[in-house]
Amino acid sequence: MEAGADYRIARRRMVAEQLLPRGISDERVIEAFLAVPRHAFVDPAIGIRAYDDCSFPIGYEQTISQPFTIAFAVQALAVSRGSRVLEIGTGSGYQTAILARLARDVFSIERIEPLLAKAQEALSRVPGGSIRVKLGDGSLGWRSYAPFDRILVSAAMAERPERLLDQLAEGGRLIAPIGESAEFLVLFTRENGATSERRIARCAFVPLMRGDA
Ligand code: SAH
Repeated sequence: MEAGADYRIARRRMVAEQLLPRGISDERVIEAFLAVPRHAFVDPAIGIRAYDDCSFPIGYEQTISQPFTIAFAVQALAVSRGSRVLEIGTGSGYQTAILARLARDVFSIERIEPLLAKAQEALSRVPGGSIRVKLGDGSLGWRSYAPFDRILVSAAMAERPERLLDQLAEGGRLIAPIGESAEFLVLFTRENGATSERRIARCAFVPLMRGDA
């Protein structure tokens, strides 16, 4: 009983102290962060600290991203209720759950099998949303469900994501961390058949791995 109330208070504090002061203002994004139980996507020993202003290890040298990092990217992605979203790097599944509250369908690809299994289990305990996951190299996209209105890459890419841009719908947006050592979060926008790109923040992500795990 108390635990649920404590977690709700922790989520409100996370939004008030970490997201609102740093420019997260989209009401739907805020609602999603208030609703999704972040503690369900980390090691149970972390407990209420899941809502702290930091990332946490999730095993296999991977991390669940800091709440603000996810909120910033998701807000810039401008997901609408009708969007079909492709996520590369399911990781803990937390961001997948956030996206599922905002979009019509979420497709998520992870290359590390045990992480995907854990994420699926956590996602099955969080109600709502249409989520499909698969094991594999996300840099190739998911051709059978393309094109996507929104694509979000959660691991750093060395170069422009050509294969993914090929699967982006007209009017679509793709956000990816790009760069080898100094990375930028880059927003790609497809309009009238042309793709434009803009750096929207400096960032640090784990590198995207090529091929199967
Ligand atoms: N948003 C996630 C971030 C996880 S870290 C979260 O907050 O939990 C990035 C994830 O990308 C890791 O789980 C890693 O295994 C995965 N990844 C790395 N390279 C990948 C690839 N080529 N295809 C799919 N997933 C990949």
